[in-house]
Amino acid sequence: MGTLNGKTALVTGSSRGMGRAAALRLAREGALVAVHYNSDKDAADEVVATIEKDGGRAFAVRAELGVPGDVHELFLGLEKGLKERTGGTDLNILVNNAGVMGGISAEDTTPEVFDRLVAVNAKAPFFIIQRALKNMPNGGRIVNISSGLTRFANPEEIAYAMTKGAVEQLALHYAKLLGPRNITINSVAPGITRNGNPAFGIPEVVEQMAGLSAFNRVGEPEDVADVVAFLASDDARWITGSFVDATGGTLLG
Ligand code: NDP
Repeated sequence: MGTLNGKTALVTGSSRGMGRAAALRLAREGALVAVHYNSDKDAADEVVATIEKDGGRAFAVRAELGVPGDVHELFLGLEKGLKERTGGTDLNILVNNAGVMGGISAEDTTPEVFDRLVAVNAKAPFFIIQRALKNMPNGGRIVNISSGLTRFANPEEIAYAMTKGAVEQLALHYAKLLGPRNITINSVAPGITRNGNPAFGIPEVVEQMAGLSAFNRVGEPEDVADVVAFLASDDARWITGSFVDATGGTLLG
């Protein structure tokens, strides 16, 4: 019996990376998972198929975040998928994971690049939470993926780090508001974590990145997904408004 049997979950940006790993892990615990994606339908379908092959339940939902009407489109697909499978539209677990990185110096950051980072990384999670709270029963869970870059300096990611700093504020203030409903909300900050970035195919670069962690390796998506699953579980009922460092001991000194 999984710890999340009977629960429903939405993981934004779960067609790949740590969102994918979180979707697989939550489904393994018994949750019905909405696998959200933007551009890569095949990847999202593969995540759903993998979950189903393992005996879990999932469906894919497409919505581009950071554009007008994004949350409306997301919840149209989400509610349709939930209704077909559960007869209702309850959402117990929300993981705000989808995000875009900058990788651009402060000098070269245009207002358009800045607006896009804010729209996808900060504005979308705010309005997704606002909307999700209509569907979330008491005892729900919200996990927002931040970044270790709110604590470690990187001049190539100043605007990106600003968006993650904004996301962290959601946990602090919403925790107070949602406590009476027994809904918890927390931030998880990953360090360098393997994804589709070509840098992870270059051994010297990987070695350099690994050296930043106390464990001398880069993070795997599952390292972060397990933390997300814990925060989504009943075991984490007493944790809210928290910042959880999941950087593998990055730059401890
Ligand atoms: P990936 O880059 O591997 O995947 C990003 C996911 O988000 C994809 O599913 C993608 O969908 C979706 N997505 C991106 N932009 C949009 C958009 N505008 N609308 C809807 N969906 C979108 O992600 P990672 O696993 O690397 O990162 C996940 C989270 O962790 C992000 O918030 C990131 O900022 C954060 N993070 C990552 C670190 C790392 O080293 N990887 C370190 C610290 C934090 P699709 O492919 O279908 O377009």
